[in-house]
Amino acid sequence: MTKRAYKERFYPTSEQAELLAQSFGCARFVWNNTLAYRTEAYKQRGESVSHSAAEKRLVGLKAEFPWLKDVSSVILQQTLRDQKAAFDNFFNPKLKARYPRFKRKDGRQSIRLTKAAFRYRDGEITIAKTRTPLPIRWSRPLPSAPSTITLSCDRAGRYFISCLCEFTPQALPITPKTVGIDLGLTDLFITSDGVKSGNPRHLKRYEAKLAFLQRRLAKKQKGSKNRAKAKQKVARLHAKIADCRRDAAHKATRTLINENQVLCIESLNIAGMVKNRHLAKAISDAGWGEFVRQLDYKATWAGRQVVKVSQWFPSSKRCHGCGHKVEKLPLSQRHWHCQGCGEPIDRDINAANNIKTAGLAGFACGATGAGAAA
Ligand SMILES: [Zn+2]
Repeated sequence: MTKRAYKERFYPTSEQAELLAQSFGCARFVWNNTLAYRTEAYKQRGESVSHSAAEKRLVGLKAEFPWLKDVSSVILQQTLRDQKAAFDNFFNPKLKARYPRFKRKDGRQSIRLTKAAFRYRDGEITIAKTRTPLPIRWSRPLPSAPSTITLSCDRAGRYFISCLCEFTPQALPITPKTVGIDLGLTDLFITSDGVKSGNPRHLKRYEAKLAFLQRRLAKKQKGSKNRAKAKQKVARLHAKIADCRRDAAHKATRTLINENQVLCIESLNIAGMVKNRHLAKAISDAGWGEFVRQLDYKATWAGRQVVKVSQWFPSSKRCHGCGHKVEKLPLSQRHWHCQGCGEPIDRDINAANNIKTAGLAGFACGATGAGAAA
């Protein structure tokens, strides 16, 4: 048994939308107020505020701001638990999480509900203080009753419900096939089988439109209705791009997991690379992080293995056929003839083959530090 989140869209009734707006606002207020208190306590007196102290303080907040009582108390308690988790992550040196941030009114809004604040019956979910079930557009039935639900509204004004459910993953029948995967810019990925994914360069296609909308937004007067409308349009386009990108990644990772038992992939320092401005836009556009994340969890569920190869392994410069290594290889050079064996080399397919060889030979992440950056 493992836990998995099932995310669906829903279309709230006006009564529900009103309660949700109120709940989002209260949760945001409690989050921000508590975060400010914690930050000040630390800065002024070097104290860290415990979770139980924050819970006690919530009682005082409710007395001071009676409108907080209009929404389910479960939501506010959960907000404090989420903030505790955010601080726990921040203080965990392994996670390198950043300091919890204030929630903005114009950002994505969300609340989490535990079982005490919603009812799940006959495949329908009703939240506390409302009578009608949430009009959810189910894409598939839930495998079990959810233990927690997260309700959110993104910057494009779309509502989502994410249900955390227990489910039993089905391992796929074992296959002898293995593959090496090189992550690229022109193509999202290239496999050792010679498959080039192509890259749905959504940002590029929509870039002109986005630039146009953003220019128009910049000209609108601050605080005006037209500005809010223009902002919404930009947010919608961003949401559309993100959706297309995620869908493309889901299709690709599903195929790769179905077809291969062992998948070797370069371990990328994506955070470090995105800091390099030239590559940054293309990389975040290509969505490597999301791709690897999907590959990892789908592999775990299907009983497949993802082998991460050290990013310092010289995967591009070494000829896969004969092992000859070129000294210099500018990023722009995509094809050449190997000086060792004379074979024509496709940079990306060659790299994917090297990653496969390295992964299968057990050059797992961190095992080899030698060699130049590829
Ligand atoms: Zn060669």
